[in-house]
Amino acid sequence: MGIYLMSDPIVSFEMHSKSHGPCFIEAVIGHYIDRSFDYEFPARLGEPVLGGFIKVPFQNRILDACITQIKEEPSIPEVKIKKVRDTHDAIPPLSQALFKLGQWMSEYYACPLGLVFKSFIPSAVFKSVRCRKELSCATGGNQEPFVLTPDQNHCVETVTSSINRSLHEVFLLWGVTGSGKTEVYFHCIRETLQQGRSALMLVPEIALTTQLIERVHQRFKESVAVFHSRLTDGERALNWLKVARGEIRFVLGARSAVFAPLKRLGLLIVDEEHERAYKQEEAPKYNARDMAVLRGRLENAVVILGSATPSMESYFNCQMKKYRLLKLPKRISKHEMPSVIAVDMQKERTRHKKLFIFSDKLVNLMDDRLKKKEQIILFLNRRGFSTCLVCPRCGMVLRCSQCSVSLTYHKEENNLLCHHCEHKTSVPSVCPECKLSGMQYLGFGTEKVEKNIRLLFPDARIARLDSDALKKKGALEKVWDDLKSGQVDILIGTQMIAKGLDVANVTLVGVLAADLALNIPDFRSGESTFQLITQVAGRAGRGDIKGEVVIQSDALSHPVLIHALNQDFSSFYEYEIRYRKELQYPPFVHFIRLEIAENDEQDASRLAKILFSGLKKQRDFKPARIFEPVPCPLKKIRTRYRWQILVSTGKVKPMLQLICAYLRREFASKNITIDVDPQSFL
Ligand code: ADP
Ligand code: ZN
Repeated sequence: MGIYLMSDPIVSFEMHSKSHGPCFIEAVIGHYIDRSFDYEFPARLGEPVLGGFIKVPFQNRILDACITQIKEEPSIPEVKIKKVRDTHDAIPPLSQALFKLGQWMSEYYACPLGLVFKSFIPSAVFKSVRCRKELSCATGGNQEPFVLTPDQNHCVETVTSSINRSLHEVFLLWGVTGSGKTEVYFHCIRETLQQGRSALMLVPEIALTTQLIERVHQRFKESVAVFHSRLTDGERALNWLKVARGEIRFVLGARSAVFAPLKRLGLLIVDEEHERAYKQEEAPKYNARDMAVLRGRLENAVVILGSATPSMESYFNCQMKKYRLLKLPKRISKHEMPSVIAVDMQKERTRHKKLFIFSDKLVNLMDDRLKKKEQIILFLNRRGFSTCLVCPRCGMVLRCSQCSVSLTYHKEENNLLCHHCEHKTSVPSVCPECKLSGMQYLGFGTEKVEKNIRLLFPDARIARLDSDALKKKGALEKVWDDLKSGQVDILIGTQMIAKGLDVANVTLVGVLAADLALNIPDFRSGESTFQLITQVAGRAGRGDIKGEVVIQSDALSHPVLIHALNQDFSSFYEYEIRYRKELQYPPFVHFIRLEIAENDEQDASRLAKILFSGLKKQRDFKPARIFEPVPCPLKKIRTRYRWQILVSTGKVKPMLQLICAYLRREFASKNITIDVDPQSFL
């Protein structure tokens, strides 16, 4: 993909040569200002360093900044230049590789460099450098590694031979769920650390990886820094500094850990590389997987992208011979892949004649497992109790006052919740429109599933895991522990239970409404549906007993579901890539998404249309394609009306330069956001 089209380094990294006159620097300040500022660097502060952190006077304040250029003359000599106030001596400067990565990101994602660098370093670092509190770093544990299977061994040997030769290479490790990928990562990390180099491992959502963190702590004697969301600002800052000073050589973390200031980086691992969570949805809107690949290149390091369901992009890159494919096609020893049973819910419904949630097949199998004292997971990717509240008389659907979505009924809290802005309202006793009582509750979410399961199996021990349940502190750890120790018979949850869970006694997985995501207007909806079903199914039968997966759906004849039922990634890929090619969608092109947001509906549509025709008139504007402006599927969010324009292109940077220049000239004051390689089109 385009991230290989790296432009030449813009700056050279030599230290500023000693000169007699005053020395000047350019610095970016952690603000939404898309430019850098000149300062004089006084001799008393020593020599300036590129990527070094300093304090500068800016609009009557003293702000933290980062040096982006060193020069003998200021850009505009006649202007009175302010002086750098101080240097942050205790904060190591950005490495050359990170500095270049930042510049590249700034151009590729059309984001001010100051903002990019700001996301590289936790803000608390600037405050905490003076406090010398020592953080207990996670050492200890020396659990012996497993003897690798021949397949695992082949993977480890291939990867380590590249690490030993300091070759930059990207591997896609495609291994079915439970095939021992994590074990391969651990061996490669150990080898990297033994070589005196450092290692970085990214996971999509660190809050959900308590099991993995445990395994990492057990395994590595070396200090490892885990960057997770529950660290305090101070802990995060101290961890960052320890990494920057080279005291810690192994970092495990989510998205933003890809910028951890590790030195002599030898290995970067992106687990579950297909996950959308790697995309940051605020500026800089980067994809951490792509940044890991790029950083690996800049650091001459090896990159492993791992998944049971690789992204179309990464698998395509293997076919193009940009990445090397490594396979783990079998589960470890006795862990056979589970068998899959499909249930056509349309047929079931005609028999039962009313909205119901569980097929007879699923209920019978659950009954069987409960008797055998085996465990069950039920998956539904929709939280809440009922999906909407409708008046049976006038058809009025209760919607959020700020967003164009219907409100979800949450029974436990007894209110209506907007899943976009989290706005809460109480449940009306009568229809707000026609004032009749008897509003109807339609659809079902995890909360309702839980209630119905309790009625069906009153003696079973049941737990639920979704973002509502997670609001209680420690809830996640408790459910995890209870599941592992057999205190829970049935776990119900949303996508957060789809991955990572490795509990031997789970022998049945039920996927309710498996086709839910297929209706989302997004060209990747097939891909994510396939991935999600495969991942959830992978939770079953990881122990010695073969697992079973029941997939309930209204759309069993959909090709995506057929491939998912067969658990056949290759044939899914062949099907999907043909469709992507035909329509010229990624990975054959890059998308750039322009979003226009206005308080007035008419303004939004007018602006989108002007922007569209204006762009098309630009000389040199030669996109692969520009799509007509359309309202976003969620046309209103937080009282703002949104329209979007999609541009597809083979080369992102030149296209973006043109778009940005045009926007600056004609739409400087407008609220238009740019998203490169977008993951969401809502
Ligand atoms: P994945 O990351 O592909 O889902 P894991 O690395 O978590 O797979 O391995 C699945 C299970 O098999 C884990 O319980 C792990 O401890 C175990 N395992 C992995 N490799 C081996 C091995 N070589 N020998 C025995 N058990 C292994
Ligand atoms: Zn809302």
